Amino acid sequence: MSDMNTAMVEKYRNSFLSEVEANVEEGEWVKMCMQCGVCSGSCPFGPYWDHPPQELFMMIRAGKREAVLSSESMWMCTSCYNCIARCPRGLPITHIMHGLAHYAKRLGLAPKNQQTMKFASIFWDNLTKKGRVNELQLGLKLYFMNGFVEGIKTALCMKEMGMSMLMTKRMSPMEYFGGHSIKDTKGLHAILKKAREIEEAKAKQF
Ligand code: SF4
Ligand code: SF4
Repeated sequence: MSDMNTAMVEKYRNSFLSEVEANVEEGEWVKMCMQCGVCSGSCPFGPYWDHPPQELFMMIRAGKREAVLSSESMWMCTSCYNCIARCPRGLPITHIMHGLAHYAKRLGLAPKNQQTMKFASIFWDNLTKKGRVNELQLGLKLYFMNGFVEGIKTALCMKEMGMSMLMTKRMSPMEYFGGHSIKDTKGLHAILKKAREIEEAKAKQF
């Protein structure tokens, strides 16, 4: 085999597929896809996405790293499980879709201003601060996640519901500054820090 061919084979061995297998949840299943298209045909949103699942899996195997990780498609998966129920090879497609989105976010390659990603980040920050969701902070941050004007408009639209919640004591303005907390927040933060270090060390291998 010529030097050039050897280099090409090596490059293929170290391809994006290996990276996905090592870093993406259930990524080791991607190579089992036989490209039948049942998942894409079953996905209620597939026709509206740039890349439905079957196409994403083909792109991974073709080494299209940037196109896959910067795609919006996996961010729009609603976890309806239609694809998993019908895949003849039993691929955990939903988990792979979410795993790809998570991996793209970790690498900073996910599309900017993606709405689902913004929501997920706000929710995650809120939850991991004290181990319990502060609903008032979460609601307000979501209202204003697309800017001040948009936030005011949303708050005005929701004002009747907000007032009802205040009147019936389902919500208290004081909750914004306090809220519930788990007993060992330091322990939670230590676990999350360790998990981040493990993920970052794995990602550096590629
Ligand atoms: S249904 Fe399963 S085997 Fe068929 S294209 Fe989708 S993931 Fe691949
Ligand atoms: S779980 Fe996600 S990818 Fe699968 S069919 Fe539903 S929306 Fe589509």
